[in-house]
Amino acid sequence: MINPAHESTDVTRELFQNFSTGGIVLFYIFGFLALGVFAWGCYLQIRKYRRGVADGSWADLARRTRDLVVTMLSHRTLRRRDAAAGRAHAAIFFGFALLFIGTSLIFIDYDILGPLGLSFWHGEFYLLFQLTLDLAGLALIVGLVYMMVRRGWIKPPKLDYRRPDREPGEPDADRSRYRIEDWAFLWALVIIGITGFLLNGSRKLWLIDDPLVWDYRWWTPVGTSIAYMLSGLGLSSEGAGVLRTATWWFHGVLALAFIAVIPFTKVKHIFTAGGSLMLRDPLAAQRLPKLPEDGEDAGYGKITDFSRKHLLHLDACTKCGRCHEACPANASGLPLSPRDLILTLREFAHEQIEGRTVDADGLVVHGDGVNQVRAETLWSCRTCMACVEICPVAIEHVPIIVQMRRWLVEQGEMDPMLQGTLQKIQKRGNSFGEAKRKRGKWADELDFPVKDARKEPVDFLWFVGDYASFDPRNQSVTRDFARILEHAGVDFGILYDAEQNAGNDVRRVGEEGLYELLAENNIASLDGAEFERVVTTDPHSLNTIRNEYPQFGGQYQIYHYTSLLKQLIEQGRLQFSKQLGYRVTYHDPCHLGRFNRGFDAPRFVMQALGLDLVEMERSGENSFCCGAGGGRIWMADPPGKEKPAENRMHEAARIEGLEVFVVACPKDLTMFEDALKTAGYEGQFVVKELNELVAEALALDKQATEAA
Ligand code: SF4
Ligand code: SF4
Repeated sequence: MINPAHESTDVTRELFQNFSTGGIVLFYIFGFLALGVFAWGCYLQIRKYRRGVADGSWADLARRTRDLVVTMLSHRTLRRRDAAAGRAHAAIFFGFALLFIGTSLIFIDYDILGPLGLSFWHGEFYLLFQLTLDLAGLALIVGLVYMMVRRGWIKPPKLDYRRPDREPGEPDADRSRYRIEDWAFLWALVIIGITGFLLNGSRKLWLIDDPLVWDYRWWTPVGTSIAYMLSGLGLSSEGAGVLRTATWWFHGVLALAFIAVIPFTKVKHIFTAGGSLMLRDPLAAQRLPKLPEDGEDAGYGKITDFSRKHLLHLDACTKCGRCHEACPANASGLPLSPRDLILTLREFAHEQIEGRTVDADGLVVHGDGVNQVRAETLWSCRTCMACVEICPVAIEHVPIIVQMRRWLVEQGEMDPMLQGTLQKIQKRGNSFGEAKRKRGKWADELDFPVKDARKEPVDFLWFVGDYASFDPRNQSVTRDFARILEHAGVDFGILYDAEQNAGNDVRRVGEEGLYELLAENNIASLDGAEFERVVTTDPHSLNTIRNEYPQFGGQYQIYHYTSLLKQLIEQGRLQFSKQLGYRVTYHDPCHLGRFNRGFDAPRFVMQALGLDLVEMERSGENSFCCGAGGGRIWMADPPGKEKPAENRMHEAARIEGLEVFVVACPKDLTMFEDALKTAGYEGQFVVKELNELVAEALALDKQATEAA
């Protein structure tokens, strides 16, 4: 590897070669200035975060660090649903990281070890170092150029900064400044990369007669190619020396300026995104935080009510637009984009609490003012978790939105229809306003009794949920599931009027007080019964009982009914007398799929039924919300806008020969049967609950039992 004509230790690069002492001193002054500005910017940011509420997010630091390293090295979150952008970001990230490490090593060798008479930056290490940095610089530039092409020519809609929550002309509607910042960031890095190569190439040509440089030129293949190119353009060795000096200063000062502005620009995502990923809560949307015992106000009203982690999240957003694209509210033309919400709050935090003094009068984030969040924006959310799930830097949109809704609820700022439903739930324990004793009435039409789990032990306690208990269309499906369990010989029972609304959506509306009451009442009922496991037909109930009731002392082994069906099929307790053969598509309910990873069991059951399943483009983790979640089923949708469920029907209708749109959630059945009509597909295909297809394949005679 080393030319035997030289001592291996001789191969190195002299820093500041041919620089005057004044020039070296000047460079160090620039360097310290840049680091000073950088440190001041970091201090401002940290002080801003510390103006939020401490929430103990830093617990278990070792595991968090390990997870962060794995996520960053794998680029797992960045490759999802945008592989090309993920690869380009990986090229930029690893290129930049290696160049940064390389520069740091030079600093250590020259400024720390050098005065001690020590050095490692020579010989084979130096040559490998040169090769690595040369390739890293190339990767950086390739990645950046792709990002430029993407922004300038491909122009994916998710990178359009037009806001759905502002009308053109409103003072904070224009986000063209972001575009300028994006381009400035890309160009700055590209110029730093290109001038780095130009510096290398001009130095090589300048020192062409030095065998310790020229003999080892191909250890920097890109830099050497530049040297040949410069020579080919007629540049002499002396001319290259002048070019090298000019490029050295330009490259060096630009790189230092880049470091200085990191905390003040989007470049800070290098740190904030890492911090956000490190503080990632895998149950962020599934398990909402309890109110603090001593909290004076509920939720987020002022920017200083935000947790420090959530303030950090605001700065972590890279504006990638993945959440904007996935959001059903945004797709339906409602005034909400999760990206724009985060950016609005970021601007607000920057204006109000990043400065030296805090303007106590200007801390309320709600309202119609510049960079305030409007109530209609918050109420547009379905808490479907599509944004949280896809965000590559683990921003927690749903907890932030629910915390802000808590404040609105506390102020009494909510839709009258929603308010009426919450009153019904408070009074009668269900969202239909029905008498409590009617909760188990659906079972009257069965030709076998359904056990009362309050009075006798059962293997499976079935938590039925409001929609499956009271909605007439869903009651029919509920009876189907009871027949299936009976057919399979499952020992099950229900809580009858001791069951109340599980509270999942009440909590996501922001009515935490009522939620706690419901959770405590249901836990008392469950604890009063004797059972092995809980099964539910309602994914919303599944989520809160599994993930949130433990906050109140309720620990249960709970399954969605599709998991139980899968087990019964595997055990041979459900055998189908006929294969249905329908061409179907399946809608993953948000609270079963994204929230609780329940993707496989429904598909297993459909396969056992002999259905021809064709997946929609948006399926699995990327499923598109029906629009009912987050309490939206209790509010009217604005007229003249396409509903999320209608949007979904259009997607399903693109499947050739589709016969059945299969759902596995009572609210989905309601939403999609309605949308089937309003979107104009009635007669083209039907919406069915999976239980109905299982009952059909088992040839369970619905008519006979319901008539009996
Ligand atoms: S939870 Fe769903 S509806 Fe709400 S902001 Fe996120 S993606 Fe949009
Ligand atoms: S919030 Fe996350 S997903 Fe949305 S634009 Fe920002 S970084 Fe991207």
